[in-house]
Amino acid sequence: MKIMEGKIRVTVWNEYRDERTNPDITKIYPQGIHGAIAKHLKTLPELEIKTATLDEPEHGLNDNVLNNTDVLIWWAHVAHDEVKDEIVEKIYKKILYEGMGLIVLHSAGASSKIFCRLMGTTCHVKSRDAGEKERLWVVSPGHPIAKEVDDYFEIEQTEMYGEFYDIPPPDELVFISWFQGGEVFRSGCCFYRGMGKIFYFRPGHETYPIYHNVNVLKVISNAIYWAKPNARPRLTFGSVQPLEELPSKP
Ligand code: ZN
Repeated sequence: MKIMEGKIRVTVWNEYRDERTNPDITKIYPQGIHGAIAKHLKTLPELEIKTATLDEPEHGLNDNVLNNTDVLIWWAHVAHDEVKDEIVEKIYKKILYEGMGLIVLHSAGASSKIFCRLMGTTCHVKSRDAGEKERLWVVSPGHPIAKEVDDYFEIEQTEMYGEFYDIPPPDELVFISWFQGGEVFRSGCCFYRGMGKIFYFRPGHETYPIYHNVNVLKVISNAIYWAKPNARPRLTFGSVQPLEELPSKP
């Protein structure tokens, strides 16, 4: 992957079904969830923002788009199974071998093909949509994803996700959520896979204006800077020649 000097190239991917079929959701996200996230990210001069959606050819993720994406943001809810396996495979390889960053939002962390493939577990959660309050606590204050975030922030109305969340133990945990109904949840999880960095961020049910929340948007932008690829060669594996001269075999 060729890494551009300067701008980080971000593709915001969205399933984009609920916003077109449910008028209550259209009201909250008239340009789609991807549109709301992209609108904020476009205010940051270090970023170059594109969007892509499920119903475009190749889900909007042809080779040219993927080859020019440093960080991919993924939101999905009802149509995980409609994502073509060959596209998932391309994304998986881009992450592992070339270090493309992946930010997985809300329900995409519960069932999306790409996240489950990277985790190797069911990624199942407990859930309840009662419009309750969520308080997200920063548990790694020195982590770059927690930059300029207070000790905690609150979302007034959300869908609850509760433990046990069936993921492997995260390599770094940045946020833990508390919910009004009593549950807790690992809400900001970092994983390293091959050359790639993956951040799972829980907030974001489609019937609440969560992607208009300044703290949520701040965390997403912080995660982009963290997840961008390191400038280094593509990973290679297999048989190699020695770097030093070896004694000949007896
Ligand atoms: Zn949800």
